Amino acid sequence: MSFVNVPANVPVNPQAPPHYAAVIAGKRVPTAEWIDIVDPALGRPFARAARCGTAETDEAVAAARDAYEHTWRHTAPAERGRLCRRVADALRAEAELLAQTETRDTGKPLGQSRTDVDVAARYFEFYGGAVEALAGETLISRPDLLAFTLREPYGVCGHIIPWNYPLQVAARTLAPALAAGNCCVLKPAEDAPLTPLLLAGIALDAGLPPGVLNVVPGYGPEAGAALAAHPGVDHLAFTGSREAGASVMAAAARTIVPVTLELGGKSPHIVLPDYDPKRAVPLIVESITEHAGQNCSAGSRLLVHARVHDELVAALAAAFRALRIGPGLTDPDLGPLISAAQRERVLGYLRLGARDCVTVTGGGVPAGPAYEEGFYVQPTLLDRVDAGHPVFTEEIFGPVLAVTPFSSLEEAVRLAEATSYGLAAGVWTRDVGTAHWLARQLRTGQVFVNNYSAAGGVELPFGGCKRSGIGVEKGFEALREYTRCKTVAIHTRPGESTVSYEEGCEG
Ligand code: ADP
Repeated sequence: MSFVNVPANVPVNPQAPPHYAAVIAGKRVPTAEWIDIVDPALGRPFARAARCGTAETDEAVAAARDAYEHTWRHTAPAERGRLCRRVADALRAEAELLAQTETRDTGKPLGQSRTDVDVAARYFEFYGGAVEALAGETLISRPDLLAFTLREPYGVCGHIIPWNYPLQVAARTLAPALAAGNCCVLKPAEDAPLTPLLLAGIALDAGLPPGVLNVVPGYGPEAGAALAAHPGVDHLAFTGSREAGASVMAAAARTIVPVTLELGGKSPHIVLPDYDPKRAVPLIVESITEHAGQNCSAGSRLLVHARVHDELVAALAAAFRALRIGPGLTDPDLGPLISAAQRERVLGYLRLGARDCVTVTGGGVPAGPAYEEGFYVQPTLLDRVDAGHPVFTEEIFGPVLAVTPFSSLEEAVRLAEATSYGLAAGVWTRDVGTAHWLARQLRTGQVFVNNYSAAGGVELPFGGCKRSGIGVEKGFEALREYTRCKTVAIHTRPGESTVSYEEGCEG
């Protein structure tokens, strides 16, 4: 196996950290400059990744175009599907390498990284099968017309992803695009680009033709902006912050290409008084502490009926205090945040919370020598948070749960709606009518009743309402997202279809 276990092809000093080159046209491509990749548990670099710019992005787009025109668009869906399923198997075969790398790169607990590998493999498996069911429609039109639609790949897709779930989000966006027949250029985040680079190597080793998948690590304003503005890109998918998403959309407006945007959330749990609050505790805790809350669909607000408020807050506080914090490789409940800058940002919100709300537990950096090097923050429960306060309305991207009591269903809906996001919501009730009513009222892409996030569910479409984004990832829907609809109408007069163009001209 050539690609996987040697991260770089550049001659480097044996004392130097491993260098992860870009993957373009099936080859490793080193760059003149490299980005230091920091281990968030140690606060020190442990690897370097290529710093791609316009030149490498141009090369990658050209390689993808070439592979699309000469190979991939002529490959049958069954064969593309088979290759995707081989990628899934190959990811599973390298599960431990991927999980350990993901944990060192992002800081997340090892068990969560292992789950991420499995989910990434599931995406390739799911779309590897689902693509064979992708079909157009036969359209009812005039009696002398046979009309139908074709779902065709766009051609070259650009994918820009964040640092929180590099492997999962890479697989989420690449697997449907590749299965549907596109060739891809992926720009991973500068903070955590390693597993997408490994993924590309693994996919090539598994048989994906060169150029079908290219990965150009680098900074957002360099490789990211170059990819977003590239006239050779036919579709853009972006996951990350609203500000960067708006830049990508503005670039897409100039080249007139469709964009899929996944821009985060401020998702509420709504706990009604008929539900035993203790039963909701494990998933409420998990939904705000998984990867230390650095998750776009984190359940970061708790709207709880006044009657069960005290009981639920007490149970959550006990659960928060019992969480183990430590380096991701020791597989604690909570690892460090991605960077010093992210920790500062989260601590800023905690200071605001301490001033204006009630800090029930947490509120700062955990004490002790074990936490001096990494970017750790305590899981924090803020109670009596007013709608309108920044910890209620803004995405913190840390392990911070904002609690607000309500007294009526209508008030719960008003509070749920009082942010500009609309990604997900959790509803906790035993009343089936209330569950359905709330599910329809909430302007969110997903509603979970008596669960949260449906255990990941690669089969379930995922997208945002309001300022949470545009378009849908995951599920069968994503195959539609990465294809365009072409209508074909054939005039069906007898004999006409047997006349060739040349014969027609001669006649
Ligand atoms: P976060 O706040 O989660 O770090 P960002 O939105 O800054 O998220 O980053 C998400 C991805 O977008 C990263 O790969 C980043 O490099 C990229 N990015 C940032 N700014 C731009 C930009 N102006 N154009 C294109 N990509 C960008």
